Amino acid sequence: MSPVNTFVMVGGGLAAGRAAQALREHGHTGPLLVIGDERERPYIRPPLSKGYLLGEEERDSIFVHPEDWYAENGVDLLLDTSVRSVDPRAREVELENGRRISYTGLLLATGSSPRRLRVPGADLENVLYLRRVGDSERLRTVFTEGSRIVVIGDGWIGLETAAAARTAGAEVTVLGHSDLPLLKVLGREAAEIFAGLHKDHGVRLLPRVEVERITGTKGRVDGVLLADGTRLAADAVVVGIGITPNVRLAEQAGLEVRNGIVTDEHLRTTAPEIHAAGDVANAYHPFLDRHVRVEHWANALNQPDTAALSMLGQEAVYDRLPYFHSDQYDLGMEYTGFTEPGGYDRVVFRGDTGQRRFIAFWMAGNRVLAGMNVNVWDVVDPIRALVRSRADVDDRLLADPDVPLASLLP
Ligand SMILES: Cc1cc2nc3c(=O)[nH]c(=O)nc-3n(C[C@H](O)[C@H](O)[C@H](O)COP(=O)(O)OP(=O)(O)OC[C@H]3O[C@@H](n4cnc5c(N)ncnc54)[C@H](O)[C@@H]3O)c2cc1C
Repeated sequence: MSPVNTFVMVGGGLAAGRAAQALREHGHTGPLLVIGDERERPYIRPPLSKGYLLGEEERDSIFVHPEDWYAENGVDLLLDTSVRSVDPRAREVELENGRRISYTGLLLATGSSPRRLRVPGADLENVLYLRRVGDSERLRTVFTEGSRIVVIGDGWIGLETAAAARTAGAEVTVLGHSDLPLLKVLGREAAEIFAGLHKDHGVRLLPRVEVERITGTKGRVDGVLLADGTRLAADAVVVGIGITPNVRLAEQAGLEVRNGIVTDEHLRTTAPEIHAAGDVANAYHPFLDRHVRVEHWANALNQPDTAALSMLGQEAVYDRLPYFHSDQYDLGMEYTGFTEPGGYDRVVFRGDTGQRRFIAFWMAGNRVLAGMNVNVWDVVDPIRALVRSRADVDDRLLADPDVPLASLLP
């Protein structure tokens, strides 16, 4: 197939599905093809560790578009199909079966994959990961009343999984490398609140531990041995130790790859007519004045619009602030902005941290870099505006719930 003006999206996730939609919305009338190696049409992953895992959301609710949307919008879906290589000079992609497809414009939206645990026993049955819808369905079968679940990794996926397992009545232990869960992402002040949340729900948190091996009987996991000699019994082990961007195609095609596929603010890669979006893109962010790779849903939702405009030759820049959300037990949170360890000098709280109903602000000097609202709603807009304004803000006013956030804007 090599019709003129064909746009190809590689990766069948949220970013690819949204890019197809955006290309149509912005007037592309030629062929559109989405190629993904999963069997399902594009779907969103957040419910896989929350409502869908808990059995509260239907399978139908996770898809980016209804099934007939693709035919109605003239979008060809090639599912269960892996792209083997990209040839930027010939402007072709090659499928695993050797078929070659020409493109006018190509979007790499290959996402990311769970980092694998590399210790003896890691390949035993019931050592599980969570990325795909089938993984979530598998976890649901092992999260049962009284089952013993060891979660390796205390980041977002580890904690959300722990919450789902606990809610199902399992006995849950979470293993982490550092002092507190989420320490690297949130810093000590806010991480302590999440540690308290899980302890209050009966999760056993084991900080500063190293996994020596996974033990098993007859090929199936029965426990985890820690480097300090501690043995934990387990019916299943869930590994959530981070993700790595799927950059193999980009590397092989000679694109610049550094912590993801490097793009400019238009989401153009270093090869002509190839763009990248979603988890895999390490994009230059004009507001932050640096490259960032954002492993979150909102980024995969919104970047494709910019990529589509840029693929169609129109001027478009992606500079939305990073945003993500999480739900654990009865705690819901949203985080807006960007900071990293060493990038801020203090955290200012507004509200009641004991009741877990508050907003936390990460500050550098008098500037707000990021804000996280926990069980407080409809504040993302003013938080985003505060961050974008780069305004000087007084800590005391920021901390006072009676002072409207909008009044702190210049
Ligand atoms: C369990 C879970 C819960 C999450 N919860 C949240 C949350 O609460 N909030 C939040 O903000 N974010 C959350 N995220 C992150 C969010 O889901 C990701 O940021 C988002 O999925 C990224 O979308 P994407 O389209 O860029 O990549 P992906 O969703 O990874 O999709 C990429 C697709 O491309 C396919 N692919 C890769 N290589 C090839 C190839 N060579 N050929 C064909 N296909 C290929 C992959 O198999 C995959 O299907 C969660 C993620 C997971 C796994």
